[in-house]
Formats: sequence, structure tokens, C-alpha cells
Amino acid sequence: MEHVAVSPWVMLAYLVAGVCFIIALRGLSSPESSRAGNRAGMIGMAIAVITTLVTHDVASLPEIGIAIAIGGAIGFVIAKRIAMTAMPQLVAAFHSLVGLAAVLVGAAAYLNPEAFGIVGATGEILTVSRVEMGLGVAIGAITFSGSVIAFLKLNGNMSGKPIILPARHFINLGTLAAILGLIAYFTQDQDPWVFWTVTGLSFAIGFLLIIPIGGADMPVVVSMLNSYSGWAAAAMGFTLHNTAMIITGALVGASGAILSYIMCRAMNRSFISVIAGGFGGDAAAAGGGTAIDRPWKRGSAEDAAFLMKQAEQVIIVPGYGMAVAQAQHALREMGDLLEAEGVTVKYAIHPVAGRMPGHMNVLLAEASVDYDKVFELEDINSEFARSDVAFVIGANDVTNPAAKTDKTSPIYGMPVLDVEKAKTVLFVKRSMGGVGYAGVDNEVFYRDNTMMLLADAKKMVEDIVKSMG
Ligand code: NDP
Repeated sequence: MEHVAVSPWVMLAYLVAGVCFIIALRGLSSPESSRAGNRAGMIGMAIAVITTLVTHDVASLPEIGIAIAIGGAIGFVIAKRIAMTAMPQLVAAFHSLVGLAAVLVGAAAYLNPEAFGIVGATGEILTVSRVEMGLGVAIGAITFSGSVIAFLKLNGNMSGKPIILPARHFINLGTLAAILGLIAYFTQDQDPWVFWTVTGLSFAIGFLLIIPIGGADMPVVVSMLNSYSGWAAAAMGFTLHNTAMIITGALVGASGAILSYIMCRAMNRSFISVIAGGFGGDAAAAGGGTAIDRPWKRGSAEDAAFLMKQAEQVIIVPGYGMAVAQAQHALREMGDLLEAEGVTVKYAIHPVAGRMPGHMNVLLAEASVDYDKVFELEDINSEFARSDVAFVIGANDVTNPAAKTDKTSPIYGMPVLDVEKAKTVLFVKRSMGGVGYAGVDNEVFYRDNTMMLLADAKKMVEDIVKSMG
């Protein structure tokens, strides 16, 4: 790739693409505008890709076309087939590809610097390019191995429990210091061992950083890796001298970091304690073993229909199980029937309900639930005490009062929805033994005002709808 002065038209096109991405991010901040936001993002990306293809001295357009066709076809099939519940691990898998791409670009630039126009007068790689390359490869490798571990944990191939190595803080800090030291040394000595040791250590640290993170901290990890993938892309943009990539990468990196911060706040956790890991360590030990011994009440679809029809206000609390059962359409139908009976119906969304940020909002939007009936935790929590029924469907951890009272609980400190304050709690799940993501029993099951509706969420809601008819 020869480096001629970049035409102002190219810069302008990239600027327009960048503005489109900012409009996209703005749009994605609310469900009403998210479709328009997505469209703006697609337009921006089309402008960026076309500009790059027509203005750069691209080696072989047919080869690139074939690569895009193969990648596009694979992406299309995956997007068509993927279950909504498998979205978080798919996102983690995609992040790993961004990280790997950054490593490969860095390695290609290192092995063939002339082709990237980064060779100085002395015949050595430019110092600034060595820094960009070192950082890009390091962030890329961390993103790759971290995302692979996140994928395995979210996909259930690896236990969600934290794996705690002895002296891990010491090992991690030592490895990070070694990576930074070696990148600094790389500016003086471009010997292959320096480059490949940085790459190897970075793969290792991504792995080491994510294995001790368990239980309820996974949401933050997913958004943190999203942020890393952005920084990796930005670093790649420097190596490739591509402004659009630098802008896009920085936007993804910054928005991912802000999202991680918001999620940490939602879970009442400090960023450092998430990164340091180990949260949820005794989750399994605290698990639902006691469930069998304690008395609890079971209800039927008819009981639930009767109770809700009598209510003035029902608050629906969806969680991961609603996504598994794909119960959102039936749920909307139930909400419509209740409203036809004069009942006020609201939906309460916990910031980490489900398995990815915004998971519940997406599903409810898919079922055309009105946005003005959907409330965030802090806006609705005070209303449970004034409601006749809290209808918890496939949620568990996000309703667990242990988070408020039990210091030994792995979810202690996370704000939760105060469902137990409603006059009656209807709790839909499949069995008393099944636990939530954090693996802990839930006190609400055994309360006097709770009625357990044990069934698949979709089946139960369909039966309730039938009983209402
Ligand atoms: P939980 O994982 O705590 O609970 C899910 C509940 O759904 C379980 O009680 C389960 O019980 C029930 N369930 C599962 N399948 C069905 C079904 N087909 N029909 C009916 N019920 C079903 O979910 P929450 O949404 O309450 O909490 C989310 C948890 O996931 C939090 O701990 C959060 O930290 C974590 N997390 C969140 C991420 C995010 O970004 N939002 C990402 C990764 C993790 P049973 O098996 O008995 O049916």
C-alpha cells in the first residue's frame, strides 16, 4: 500500500461515516429510535467500506469480493439460525474475531512492513508504528482469548464459577507489567522474540483475566470485551492508516467502556473489583439444596388468571427464562387481556435481567409491548408495595432479596426488584430445584404471599390466557 496524500474527499467521506456512527449510537440509546439508529450505522459502514475499496490501492478486488461473500454468507446463516437466548455467546464469539483480526493485521505489518508503508529511512520499522503495532496486537490478543473464555462460560462449555488461581493478582500484574515493558523495549529493538513474546503474553493475560470472573459479573465482562474490541480496531486503524477505522474503533471502545461503567453501577460493583474477579465464588455451595425441605405454595394457571383479573395493578418482571421459553408474545396477549379487564399492566426491567444488556427490552419490543409500559428498576421499584400482583416470569437473581440482606450471598449488594412487597407474587419457573445464573436459592419462593407456577414460561402464560377467555 503506497502512501500518497489522502484526498480531502476521502477524509470527508470518512467524516460523514463517523457522523453516521454517532447518530447510530444516539439512536441505540432508546428502543423507539433504535431501528433508525441501526440504519444510520449501516449507511455509515457502507460509506466507509466503499470509500476504502475505491480509493485505496486494494491488491485485488475480486479476492476481497470473494472474502466478503464467504464471510457475509456465514454471517447471514448464523444470524438466521441463532436463538435469541444464544445471543450473548454469539456477541462474545464476534468480539473474539475482532481481536484475532487485530493480531493478524499487526503480525502482517510486522512481517511485511514495506507493504504497510511503515519503514523509516534506516530500513527499520518506524518507532511510532512499533508502539501502535505492539498495543494493537496486545489489546487484540487479550480481546481474543478473553472473549473465547467468555464464550465458553456463557455457552455452558465451561463452569460459570470463578476459577481462582493462587497468587493470581501477582501473576496478572506481573504479566501486564511485562507486556508494557516489552512494548517499550520493542521501540528500541524490533527483534522477533520481542514481538512474539508480547503476543503470547497478551493471549495468556486475556485468559487469566476472565477465568476468575464468575456468576453475576459476566454482563460487565461482555460489555468490557466489547470495549476492548473497539480499542483493538482503533489500534488496527493506526497500523492501516485508516481514519474511519480509528474513529469507529474509538466510538466502540468508548461506548463499551461507558456501558461497562453503567452496568457496574447497576450492580453496585466497582469496576476494579469486577476486573479483579472472583465474585460469586461460593455460588454453587449456597445453591438451592434447601429448596425441597421448606414449605411453598403451588398455584395453577386458573388461580393466576383469577388473581390477576381481580387486581388493580400487575407488574410483570421478565427474566432469562422468558427468553428461553420465547414467552414474550403470549405475555403481551396476557397483558392486553388484563388491560381489557381494566387492570393496569406495567413491565419492570432489571438492568442485568437475561443474559445481555437490553435483552428484555429487545424481546418485549419484538412482541410490540408499548415502550411507555416498560420501566427501569429505579423508576418502578417503589411501586411493588402498591401493586396487587408481581408476575415474575423466568427471572430469579434479579428478584432475590438476599442481595439486600445476606452478606455471604454472591449477589450481595446488587440492587434487586422488590417483588416480595407486592400483595401477591406469582413466580413462573419450571422446577423448585432450578436456580438462576448466580446459582443461589431465592427466599421469595417460600414466602406466604408467593404462589409458584411451575411450568415452561410460554406454556404457563398460554394456559393463563386460555383461563381468562
Ligand atoms: P436468572 O438466570 O437468575 O434466572 C432464570 C430463571 O428462569 C431460573 O429461575 C429458571 O428456573 C427460569 N427458567 C429457565 N428456563 C425457563 C423456562 N423455559 N420457563 C420458565 N422458567 C425458566 O435470570 P435473571 O434474568 O433473573 O437474572 C440474570 C442473571 O444473569 C443475573 O445473575 C445476571 O448477572 C446474569 N447475567 C446477565 C447478563 C446480562 O448482560 N444481562 C449476562 C450474563 C449473565 P428453572 O430452571 O427452574 O426453570
